Amino acid sequence: MEVKVCKNCRRLFNHINGPDLCQECMKLLPKEEEGRVNIRLNSGLSRLLVEEEEKYIKIKEYITIYPNATIVQIADANGVTPSKIFEWIREDRLEFSEESKEVWFTCMKCGTKIKSGRYCAQCRGK
Ligand SMILES: [Zn+2]
Ligand SMILES: [Zn+2]
Repeated sequence: MEVKVCKNCRRLFNHINGPDLCQECMKLLPKEEEGRVNIRLNSGLSRLLVEEEEKYIKIKEYITIYPNATIVQIADANGVTPSKIFEWIREDRLEFSEESKEVWFTCMKCGTKIKSGRYCAQCRGK
């Protein structure tokens, strides 16, 4: 657990996993209900964050349709920068399938191939 600044309200909070948002702002994030996305505007989230969430959801769908796409292809097709995608991967919000092993990441500690996040399950458990 580490203390981070919430991307939306700028308060300090204890970050466990997921996006850099405090518990209150997490509640404002769009929910995926039965495959449909429900983005609540004027919910207190900044316009920028709502746009980011819209893209995040689009990309998640894109990855399920094109499991072999590379980061650059995903970024180009969805109008985001590759670094944004890396950010989501590090936040553990995007995960790649078995078929897209070439875009998997290496654990920052032991170098094992992982699908998302910074560390493999073993190193994370420590
Ligand atoms: Zn917040
Ligand atoms: Zn590891």
